Amino acid sequence: MRILVCVKQVPDTTEIKIDPVKHTLIREGVPAIVNTFDAYALEVAARIKDATPDTTITLLCMGPEQAKAALTECLAVGGDTAYLVTDRKFGGSDTLATSYILATAIKKIEETEGKFDIIFAGKQAIDGDTGQVGPEIACHLGYPQITYASEANVVDGKLQCKRESDKGYDILEVAMPAVITVVKTDFEPRYPTLKSKMAAKKKPIGIITFADVESIIDAARIGLSGSPTKVKKTFTPVREINCVKIEEEDPAVAAQKALDQLNADKVL
Ligand SMILES: Cc1cc2nc3c(=O)[nH]c(=O)nc-3n(C[C@H](O)[C@H](O)[C@H](O)COP(=O)(O)OP(=O)(O)OC[C@H]3O[C@@H](n4cnc5c(N)ncnc54)[C@H](O)[C@@H]3O)c2cc1C
Repeated sequence: MRILVCVKQVPDTTEIKIDPVKHTLIREGVPAIVNTFDAYALEVAARIKDATPDTTITLLCMGPEQAKAALTECLAVGGDTAYLVTDRKFGGSDTLATSYILATAIKKIEETEGKFDIIFAGKQAIDGDTGQVGPEIACHLGYPQITYASEANVVDGKLQCKRESDKGYDILEVAMPAVITVVKTDFEPRYPTLKSKMAAKKKPIGIITFADVESIIDAARIGLSGSPTKVKKTFTPVREINCVKIEEEDPAVAAQKALDQLNADKVL
């Protein structure tokens, strides 16, 4: 079984700052981590590997040179091989262009290493937050997809996933190859050991540049100019908290005052 896990390196902060001129995230000076949901996706993949002999896990990340650190981290907790997709020509890509580049990179890897049975992604990246890249990769490749999976197991040659729903969860089955996006799981991602960390540092990371995929990619669909989404304006919303304290002793009077206030504020 051949599994690929998409891994995005993201800033380790909830305080995202946006460049007011370029309208892109300011990443300088912010420590970076593996996107949380990608760590869960890798753990789901690693559990399939534990249960299915001869399974390999390939990691794929698009980002700058520093994103290699995220791949090395993942190589220590289940990944076997890793690829970094990096080139100035890919910079400025929106989600559609990003997923197109990642899908093209997957095809490029498959040319030499063989088809993947399962492609995992996180349900969303904690910086961009769109949740679009996984499903878009499925569309570019023409594969079926299951989103919001918290478990995945191979049963009788098919992939069975536990998928979160509003009412609880569904058990869905899909033929492979398929794309699966993963939510927070009930189990924690495994920790690296000293030995696995040392081994990961020695594993080479393949680099995929524009030149490597030039013959199979449409240059008009990548980068800022190839991105249909244009950020026109960004702003930080003003948070105003107007607190009204009701200190009546009589509960009925207090309730009436609260009701009057809600009506006055047009909340009701
Ligand atoms: C007009 C525009 C210009 C932009 N320019 C830039 C720019 O110059 N530089 C920049 O860094 N960002 C830029 N972005 C943001 C960029 O498009 C997103 O970071 C990227 O497409 C991923 O979207 P997301 O973070 O919402 O991921 P989601 O769709 O929320 O991610 C879902 C999952 O997809 C996978 N995934 C997502 N991104 C990657 C990746 N890069 N590598 C591997 N797996 C991945 C992960 O498994 C992740 O959990 C731009 C966005 C727009 C709209």
